[in-house]
Amino acid sequence: MKFVRFLAQGQEGIGVLTEDGRSVVPQEGFGLERRFASLTELIQEIGPDGLETIRRAAQEGKNAVPVSDVKLLSPIDRPIHDVICVGVNYRDHLTETKEKFDTSFQEPVKPVYFSKRVCHTVSPGEPIRSRMEIDPCLDYEVELGVVIGKTGTDIPRDRAEEYIFGYTIVNDVSARTLQKQHVQWYRGKSMDTFTPMGPVLVTKDEIPFPVTLDLCCRVNGETRQSSNTRYFITDIPSLIADLSRGMTLEAGDIIATGTPAGVGTAMDPPCYLKPGDVVECEIEKIGVLKNPIE
Ligand code: MG
Repeated sequence: MKFVRFLAQGQEGIGVLTEDGRSVVPQEGFGLERRFASLTELIQEIGPDGLETIRRAAQEGKNAVPVSDVKLLSPIDRPIHDVICVGVNYRDHLTETKEKFDTSFQEPVKPVYFSKRVCHTVSPGEPIRSRMEIDPCLDYEVELGVVIGKTGTDIPRDRAEEYIFGYTIVNDVSARTLQKQHVQWYRGKSMDTFTPMGPVLVTKDEIPFPVTLDLCCRVNGETRQSSNTRYFITDIPSLIADLSRGMTLEAGDIIATGTPAGVGTAMDPPCYLKPGDVVECEIEKIGVLKNPIE
């Protein structure tokens, strides 16, 4: 199923796309007693029976509204915590990072984690606001976002899939000067509007495990990044097992799993985003996340 958050006639709602992707069944058509304030609340409370009920409702198309009559928003507006990010998780991006972005960068022996502050995610079509006076080196990173569906600590690698709710697209927008200047990447990854997300949250049953999805990023129609999640250095089960060792992952948490080669900062010469550009992040089976730069 593809869960969505949307705006219809000025009202925000959550719902699920019908199988043909042409309509949205809002939660009022789910046939459930209770209403959820957000998709995070739904993820935390729904359970397998509830999901099955929603699946049937999506098939029946009750209360369905044409998708052309709504504006799709980022599925999760305010994540429960900062987004957990994985750095240099594709071999080719690790190489370009060492050779082009930061020649002092030491090849890590363990997964690299950092966090990304997110007051609000950015919806499809909404602008990423550049702050050229703070940092003119604005960059894109297409990433598969894993949304945790069940709270867990010390999750065994072979049970990791059980703890996943689904997948979305995250653009890990980065201010490269800040990223490098402050040693820790947090500051350069965390400016307002630096986390576009969406357009949908796809439940895990639609994406076979292990996850092997093509992903790419285009700037003004030109392909900059193109890879497949099979090239992760640390795969999703290992990330979930490693992160949850002594650190609880909560239902609703989001893990951005890293980006492949082709970021603007590693081009020769570097090619940063500027106002007027349009960035499209695409992942197979999820969709296209398109945002202009303002
Ligand atoms: Mg990243």
